[in-house]
Amino acid sequence: MTIAVPKGRLGDDILDILNEAFGIKVEFKERKLIFKDKENTFLKVRNADVATYVNKGSADIGIVGLDVLTEKDVDVVKLLDLQRGKCKISIGIKQEDNLQSLYAKPELKVATKMPLIAKRFFSSKSIPIEIIKLNGSIELAPILGLSDLIVDLVDTGNTMKENGLKVVEDIMDSSAYLIVNNNSYYKNKKEILSFRNKISKLI
Ligand code: AMP
Repeated sequence: MTIAVPKGRLGDDILDILNEAFGIKVEFKERKLIFKDKENTFLKVRNADVATYVNKGSADIGIVGLDVLTEKDVDVVKLLDLQRGKCKISIGIKQEDNLQSLYAKPELKVATKMPLIAKRFFSSKSIPIEIIKLNGSIELAPILGLSDLIVDLVDTGNTMKENGLKVVEDIMDSSAYLIVNNNSYYKNKKEILSFRNKISKLI
């Protein structure tokens, strides 16, 4: 099987679990993005690309944050919640602002790197919004008057607090998930479920 592992801290954590489950030592030496053992191939890819590799069948299995998976909106099997990288997708506004007064505006400016999740949330509340798509440092947007609020990942809430914002509403919980390509799942169901059971005992 081919397994797509995200780069970064989450990936390192997950590699420890995979090593234990397979009884191997997956190591991406220097700039190598691929590691092969006798049975499996491991790919080191960006978190945001894991779902694409799995959805297109370049990888059978992948590990990805539910936030990224939801935003990508791709059709894959969600096999197991790995209980790692837990965080929330929440709404933040300026300390001095009031959410209800903001909601009363004819159109809200929403800064986020997750436009789909934000659009779905506000459309479910019938609140018209304009999306300001940013790729990072989202917390700056309300302070500079670029947006009325932000939709962003929150763990402790310290980043928002230190930038003069407060968390006022949670949209969804996120954590890392084991995902599987639909065809691979139906073709190798027994093998994949045994893999799932091994991993689930280690989390
Ligand atoms: P915190 O200050 O603990 O609330 O963390 C918020 C900052 O960390 C924001 O910039 C988020 O984008 C980022 N962050 C928090 N949790 C995660 C996560 N599980 N994965 C990736 N980024 C995260």
